[in-house]
Amino acid sequence: MYVCGPTVYDTAHIGNARSVVVYDVLFQLLKFCYGKVTYVRNITDIDDKIINAASEKNSSVESISTYYTRTFHEDMRSMNYAEPTYEPKATENIDYIIKLIEHLLQSGHAYESNKHVYFSVESYSEYSALSGKEIDELDYGNRVEVSENKKHPGDFALWKPANDTDYKLSSYWSSPWGEGRPGWHIECSAMSHAYLGQDFDIHGGGIDLQFPHHENEIAQSKSAFAGSVFAKYWVHNGFLTVNKEKMSKSLLNIIKIRDLLHSGIKGEVIRHALLKTHYRKPFDWTKNVISESQETLNKFYRLLRDVDVITIEKIDAEVSKDFVEALINDLNIPEALVILHEMATKINRTNNENEKL
Ligand SMILES: [Zn+2]
Repeated sequence: MYVCGPTVYDTAHIGNARSVVVYDVLFQLLKFCYGKVTYVRNITDIDDKIINAASEKNSSVESISTYYTRTFHEDMRSMNYAEPTYEPKATENIDYIIKLIEHLLQSGHAYESNKHVYFSVESYSEYSALSGKEIDELDYGNRVEVSENKKHPGDFALWKPANDTDYKLSSYWSSPWGEGRPGWHIECSAMSHAYLGQDFDIHGGGIDLQFPHHENEIAQSKSAFAGSVFAKYWVHNGFLTVNKEKMSKSLLNIIKIRDLLHSGIKGEVIRHALLKTHYRKPFDWTKNVISESQETLNKFYRLLRDVDVITIEKIDAEVSKDFVEALINDLNIPEALVILHEMATKINRTNNENEKL
């Protein structure tokens, strides 16, 4: 399983955390069902956003990405997740990325133009099959950069030449096309291939990554490796809003995991709150989500404290099959949580009856 990981330029917010906890449950469920699972979640440690943060803070790209990788791990570990098997960084795979771009150039799926290398969307006949968009109706200018260097407006950069800021911040590498840095999309195609091979089972990420990021990953990987299916299954977690609004810097409504933890909320409460809504559905964060999850966890902890282990294990054995069945049905965590509540009710009832005896 490959999941697109964070771009490390700021501390993690609840949207980043939703992806982490959803794929963590999937990872743990797959391990439970199949024993061995290889889970790769990358770190994007070179990107415009990181370069901007380094410029603003008069820092280096490496210090910014190292610092925010550390805070990401600290914040996410508070939510009790299982570490991915591999966590590759883009900057540690530049040679691999360059080889993949060379391969796409040789096979006619990419072209050089004014020190850039672009992927040609017209060279790949199934382009946009995942998102179902028409190639000529794509959102050019908004989510796809417009440039006169491109043959088609949907073409996207595999390699970008270094600019003055890149030279100042040393955020560039040598390549056959001059000094520069890779585009974001090619990083994931290179890292998934490096760690999982040309075909693998599951590719995950937020629904906002479906187009263009995942579409571009498919186009690159399937073009580079003839006969490849790339990912057999695609899993996308839904959007997250705060009081029905998109989280954004301008609305000052970004909820950071770090701030929640510092206010005394435990990671397990945040984890429960983020998993209560079906992973594919939009999730709206309101002021009640934390108090409701806290109440639920208190209820479960009271039960564990007050009821003997034998009674709990007996009821657990009765419902565990239903619990797993809920999870293997498109990761229906809300249904699995309902089963836990029913289990709590049964345990209470059995315990009360035992006490009467
Ligand atoms: Zn990705």
